[in-house]
Amino acid sequence: MNVLVINCGSSSLKFQLINSDTEAVLAKGLCERIGIDGRLTYQPAGGEKKTEDKAMPTHTEAIQFVIDALTDAERGVVKSLEEIGAVGHRVVHGGEKFASSVVITEEVKKAIEECNDLAPLHNPANLIGIDACEKLMPGTPMVAVFDTAFHQTMPDTAYMYGLPYEYYDKYKVRRYGFHGTSHSFVSKRVAEFLGKPYDATRTIVCHLGNGSSICAVKNGKSVDTSMGLTPLEGLVMGTRSGDIDPAIMEFIAKKEGLDIAGLMNVLNKKSGVEGVSGVSSDFRDLANAAAEGNKRAELALEMFAYRVAKYVGSYAAAMNGVDNIVFTAGIGENDGQTRARICSYLGYLGIEIDAEANGKRGEEIVISTPDSKVTVLVIPTNEELAIARETVALV
Ligand code: ADP
Repeated sequence: MNVLVINCGSSSLKFQLINSDTEAVLAKGLCERIGIDGRLTYQPAGGEKKTEDKAMPTHTEAIQFVIDALTDAERGVVKSLEEIGAVGHRVVHGGEKFASSVVITEEVKKAIEECNDLAPLHNPANLIGIDACEKLMPGTPMVAVFDTAFHQTMPDTAYMYGLPYEYYDKYKVRRYGFHGTSHSFVSKRVAEFLGKPYDATRTIVCHLGNGSSICAVKNGKSVDTSMGLTPLEGLVMGTRSGDIDPAIMEFIAKKEGLDIAGLMNVLNKKSGVEGVSGVSSDFRDLANAAAEGNKRAELALEMFAYRVAKYVGSYAAAMNGVDNIVFTAGIGENDGQTRARICSYLGYLGIEIDAEANGKRGEEIVISTPDSKVTVLVIPTNEELAIARETVALV
């Protein structure tokens, strides 16, 4: 079956058409600037990537262009919509309502809408994408795959905050965690790759990209993760602060004359390694700047590694030990220097890194030595494939 995987943002939409039998990507692309002017990038497998301006006042036009491109006589990869058996939608927040993926019904859409408060930038956009697909592909089954679902197995000791309990009762303020599709896919793959039973291994997944999070996966279940009610908590990220003393907010608000929206903008968009370095949120730029002697770029890189290492230590404690540590996503898969920095804090766990293996990029590989007490690996994540698999399993 061919599955169309849709990741819809407020003004953009990423898509992939995946053949679920071969797991091959037949075509992929991106609609950008929806509601502004509109731009479609489309690439069939083995073909050229092309970008064209297309008027996209709403997501419905964007999806129509995606369908037109996929079924185009020349550059298309299917003859008609009939050859698309299902659509898998990435949905950011499923709150406590969704502990797994679901077939989308009117009831499910209502429940997703009820989580809008928890992800005001993402869930409404995800719903718009679902509505647009339903309009243009009536009768095609659709599945919602949630970023939060995998973490619903966390115990209350891990997901509750030290706040008045009534905020949980009234508003469901708790840790939810994100990147669940990636943490689940990668931790499963580690077990497969090493030939170990998934339900009897302790793995720490370091998903290090522009947004970064860590997850403790014990016997196949997420037992803790570094992102919280929102993706702001945890690691120092590209532009997000991660953990800070909450009292800093009042202090800075008074000094800088900022309101809550202004503060949140600083913490989400002007902080992290970009805020510390004043250089960039991109680790390639930071590495170049640090190599040229930029001290703040060097500081940002070391702070990033140190925070990751602290979380690894706390999750080793949470699981009473750790068997595997795995790096994934843009930084985790490509940046051997950052992996080495992180692992330099982990000698106490008996970790030894094989420098040559760690020098490789973008492939599934064990980067620890045979003597290392914990197996350290790089496993590329593939959220689209994970969504396609979940979709097929449900339809
Ligand atoms: P997201 O999906 O959160 O947008 P990605 O997982 O694609 O992010 O990661 C993007 C980040 O990965 C970039 O900002 C950059 O810091 C980092 N990155 C990508 N390629 C490399 C590389 N070759 N070396 C170092 N860092 C890289």
